Amino acid sequence: MTDFSHSPSPQIIAIANQKGGVGKTTTSINLAAALAEMALRVLVVDLDPQGNASTGLGIEAEEREMTTYELLVGDVPLGEVIQPTALDGLSIIPATVDLSSADIDLISNDRRSFLLHDSLRQSAMGEFGFDYILIDCPPSLNLLTVNAMVAAHSVLVPLQSEFFALEGLSQLMLSVREVRQSANPGLRIEGIVLTMYDKRNNLSRQVEQDARENLGDLVFETLIPRNVRVSEAPSYAMPVLSYDSNSQGAVAYRALAQEIMNKHRLMAA
Ligand code: ADP
Ligand code: MG
Repeated sequence: MTDFSHSPSPQIIAIANQKGGVGKTTTSINLAAALAEMALRVLVVDLDPQGNASTGLGIEAEEREMTTYELLVGDVPLGEVIQPTALDGLSIIPATVDLSSADIDLISNDRRSFLLHDSLRQSAMGEFGFDYILIDCPPSLNLLTVNAMVAAHSVLVPLQSEFFALEGLSQLMLSVREVRQSANPGLRIEGIVLTMYDKRNNLSRQVEQDARENLGDLVFETLIPRNVRVSEAPSYAMPVLSYDSNSQGAVAYRALAQEIMNKHRLMAA
């Protein structure tokens, strides 16, 4: 029987910031888990050669024969690279270090910026039944991140609540503008989420104030607190929502998922 209860084409969100260590992977894993908890069907695309999202979702090295590298460079069909995770409703396309040579391997490919777009925006996408696709980007504005931005409906930017947090943002916004002009005019900013927030720390509060003054509504209400349970969860190959369901980190990622859902409902209305 055909299940019509899910949207025919998924919302695709690229989680990007060219700085490393700001919470991209943590946000990809835990936002995905929070959406899946809401009975939505979610696909995480690991687009970072470091493969941290794959590890964090329990996909071991020997389970990574079919990866984003095979999808992009090997032209392997989408259905052959998606695999389930231990969590209901949550699937992944894993990554390995192979992906680090993608920009060289694709140099003579005219559609090299559109490869992920061509896979994820194909007309048959609805048959996979996903509601959301989250793309975990590498810490760079390279060809992989461009592929993510060309494929996505929106970009979600994790911003670490520390000094210089806002500095790299103009460069990121410039990339978004370039992708809009060249390939993906509909690309939105989903929002900017402050991560590793410490409300007792003046600097965190200052970064929040600066971000809200300069970026207004683009900044999510939800703040992701610095929470040791969040940083422990990946070594147990679980999202924090499974590892410690009542932790501050888990609660915050559920709130972020809800905030995004509300926004999308308003947009659809
Ligand atoms: P990125 O993908 O942007 O490089 P990560 O998501 O890997 O960043 O996060 C960098 C480090 O910070 C990781 O060790 C992660 O466990 C830790 N971390 C991320 N978010 C939090 C948080 N809210 N509280 C505590 N540690 C966090
Ligand atoms: Mg990462």
